[in-house]
Amino acid sequence: MQLYQSQSLKIYNSLSGKKEIFEPLNKGHVGMYVCGPTVYSNVHLGNCRTFMSFDMIFRYFKHLGYKVRYVRNITDAGHLVDDADDGEDKIAKKARLEKLEPMEVVQRYTVDFHNILEKFNFLPPSIEPTATGHIIEQMEIIKEILQKGYAYEVNGSVYFDVAKFNETNEYGKLSGRKLKDMIANTRELTAQDEKKSPQDFALWKKAEPQHIMRWPSPWGDGFPGWHLECTAMSTKYLGETFDIHGGGMDLKFPHHECEIAQAEACNGRSPVKYWMHANMLTMNGKKMAKSTGNNILPGEIFSGENTVLSKAFAPSVVRFFMMQAHYTSILDLSNEALLASEKGYHRLMEALEVLAHLETGAQSHFDVETWKKLGYDAMNDDFNTPILIANLFDAVKRINLIKEGKESITPGDKELLQQAMNAFVFEVLGLERQSLGNGNSDKLSGVVELLIQFRMEARANKDFATSDRIRDELAALGIQLKDGKEGTTFSVS
Ligand code: AMP
Ligand code: ZN
Repeated sequence: MQLYQSQSLKIYNSLSGKKEIFEPLNKGHVGMYVCGPTVYSNVHLGNCRTFMSFDMIFRYFKHLGYKVRYVRNITDAGHLVDDADDGEDKIAKKARLEKLEPMEVVQRYTVDFHNILEKFNFLPPSIEPTATGHIIEQMEIIKEILQKGYAYEVNGSVYFDVAKFNETNEYGKLSGRKLKDMIANTRELTAQDEKKSPQDFALWKKAEPQHIMRWPSPWGDGFPGWHLECTAMSTKYLGETFDIHGGGMDLKFPHHECEIAQAEACNGRSPVKYWMHANMLTMNGKKMAKSTGNNILPGEIFSGENTVLSKAFAPSVVRFFMMQAHYTSILDLSNEALLASEKGYHRLMEALEVLAHLETGAQSHFDVETWKKLGYDAMNDDFNTPILIANLFDAVKRINLIKEGKESITPGDKELLQQAMNAFVFEVLGLERQSLGNGNSDKLSGVVELLIQFRMEARANKDFATSDRIRDELAALGIQLKDGKEGTTFSVS
């Protein structure tokens, strides 16, 4: 029996505005699509928050025993500078400014994205498709939408006809907007405009001669509209209807609204069962964004080289900070908040260490089964990680009381507690045992080198019990010793 069979998971569905019981389309399987980054610059911490929320969600589904196909794309074409249908392609613009090939820009920032995510201990998605790898699929969808009468061609570009779509479907249902209000609030079209209405959006744009990212198509040389890639890739890998579509709150409109319109126009049915939106990371109370300069890069946090924070913070501390907020709440980054998270993170890690060596007794003062159930209840309530963490700290309190001899725990309960704590902390929240990446790492190296020396001396004296103990205790702390020809080296996981 899989764990999900005994749990009742509820998810807040942005489409219905309600928490709903999660029932996958195919029993035991979850199909999840999350809009990935536009790879024209280094990911900032705000981007990472959205992806981390979905990493935690992916982890929890896997923990429950579901077979998950998690698709997170890479946007490497089609995303224009003003997020609508005008302006230069973000990647082409960067390539022009830095005198690089667009694909050099894409490669540089895709590698950066992966490096940062690895530091944060993300699990890789099942498929990571690119927009440029799916131009043919995107053209096929355009042909289908044109054929069904929901799009029109003008001068080498193809636009989605929102008014036509709205006659039979409901444009705006995800973001709670009404087409007539949108029309009332937009400017009149000018004679140069190609669109029939400002609400219409591009499926295919004609490439001007200077536009370097271009593909031949039945409508002439051009490139796909931004919203189309996600419809093409989600349909291809997850089907015409799939379980979960996620992204940041700021993508609800127009991006996700347009995805719904494209999929419904093309396939005649609603593409997604549960729409999930992660909330924004702010700094100084304002949304963290590339465009405003109000942002901080993860690397700057790990190295301490920034003007916002008083010191460096390890990736797991930052992850712990993120997990202390519910994914649908706004979270503000500040030095104080990170310092508090660092303390909390160390208390939690220390308690896990203490637990490993805790002496057991004949009776338990601590009802571990009930405590564990509360942890699952929190996660089943729309992935409520802050409540889960509060529950973990209840266990930390009890662990310390047992250590002080004020309470006791049976061997069976201790094992159960260890298993559950490890599952919640490492598997679900994705935390790691980590040391700092700043000056403290030099101190750590010094201490480990000293222990390596003691171990060598112990071996020279044939005191293998001590030498093994040093190796094992370090391993329990996540520090692996490796004996080689050149002597002993170590790595920290
Ligand atoms: P982009 O690379 O601009 O397409 O954005 C990648 C992802 O980051 C999207 O899902 C955005 O919603 C998300 N995002 C952008 N800014 C923030 C922020 N300040 N907090 C959380 N997520 C964000
Ligand atoms: Zn998308």
